[in-house]
Amino acid sequence: MIDRIISLELFPLAIPRDEPYLGPLEAGTAVNAHGYFVRPGNKTIYSTHDQSVLVKVTSESGAVGWGESFGVTVPDVVAQIQKQLIAPLVIGRDPHDVVMIYEDLYDALRVRGFYGGFWVDAIAGVDMAIWDLRGKLTGLPVYKLLGGRRHERIPVYVSGLPGRTKEDRAAVGKRWIDRGFSALKFAAAVADEGELAEMKAIRAAVGPDVKILVDLHWHYTALEAIQLIHKLDEYDLYLAEAPVASEDIDGQAQVARSVKTQVAIGEELRTVYEYRPRFLARCMNVIQPEMAHTGISAFWQIGQLAQAFHCKVMPHATINVGIVQAASLQVSAALSNLAMHEYQHSIFDRNLQFVDTSMRCADGYFTLPEGPGIGVEPKEELFEYVIS
Ligand code: MG
Repeated sequence: MIDRIISLELFPLAIPRDEPYLGPLEAGTAVNAHGYFVRPGNKTIYSTHDQSVLVKVTSESGAVGWGESFGVTVPDVVAQIQKQLIAPLVIGRDPHDVVMIYEDLYDALRVRGFYGGFWVDAIAGVDMAIWDLRGKLTGLPVYKLLGGRRHERIPVYVSGLPGRTKEDRAAVGKRWIDRGFSALKFAAAVADEGELAEMKAIRAAVGPDVKILVDLHWHYTALEAIQLIHKLDEYDLYLAEAPVASEDIDGQAQVARSVKTQVAIGEELRTVYEYRPRFLARCMNVIQPEMAHTGISAFWQIGQLAQAFHCKVMPHATINVGIVQAASLQVSAALSNLAMHEYQHSIFDRNLQFVDTSMRCADGYFTLPEGPGIGVEPKEELFEYVIS
């Protein structure tokens, strides 16, 4: 008998932060009336709150699945798309048809030109919730449904070193190394004395054995990026992320073939269709899919495509309450080409208080949650942060 989906409930969330994501605001940066500001270093809009959209799907038998969509800006818009457009297309469906449901939803707005952006973000959380439901109905974790657990625990790199000066940020990095971590990523957007000075300070603080990654935030032309990466290499740079504008596929490919450092891209991409031309042009050695943009179905597809191109997978970790993170670990555990997972300590550690899960990050590794499905349940106190 089919245990059909009978409801889809949406909870857009906004949890205030003590300190903005990526650290203190630069002098002169204004926060607007809706709580948004633009970091001049990467021209990108951020919120003063941790925002996302929680998705609850319920079946006829009363089983519940949880998902979470990207909602860093205007999460209420994502929730409205899910409520008005997606829910009527999902109710009545068999949760075991999750991949078909994903494909049907993706098709639904192609004619309008929506094959990315808010539309696919809205699909992502619903897809995740249906996978979670499917796991609970079968009693199996998602990695089993995908074909098996390849990794017992997931190695991580520590992402973001908040601090006012480069010395402060390097000291934050050193503290993580002292706690058993072995890889760090710094953000060019907040390196106020330049990437080279930042790299030098961090290398001096952490010693020669630590892997240091840099996020260049799409900031440079191809030639500028190549020159910069060569200079950073004098301090043994492990990986350069997002060196040129996302739209510049040719420039990206030029960087990847001109440096000996690994180049990574992909946090802003949502489907195999967005990744495909970049694989064909050999734009990167490593991809960084973001679960909150992709959902489980597309993340798995993207990971398989990366395998076909002998690229490694280093999943991105966006702002989320933990369901996205756990879903990303579930798929990561099943990927043979997984390298490391990003660990956003300033988000993950704090938001763990809002969910029931055995998932943890310590000593350089994520441990996967126990239990069927994704393995994370929101606690009652999380619902205090639902916005209308
Ligand atoms: Mg990034």
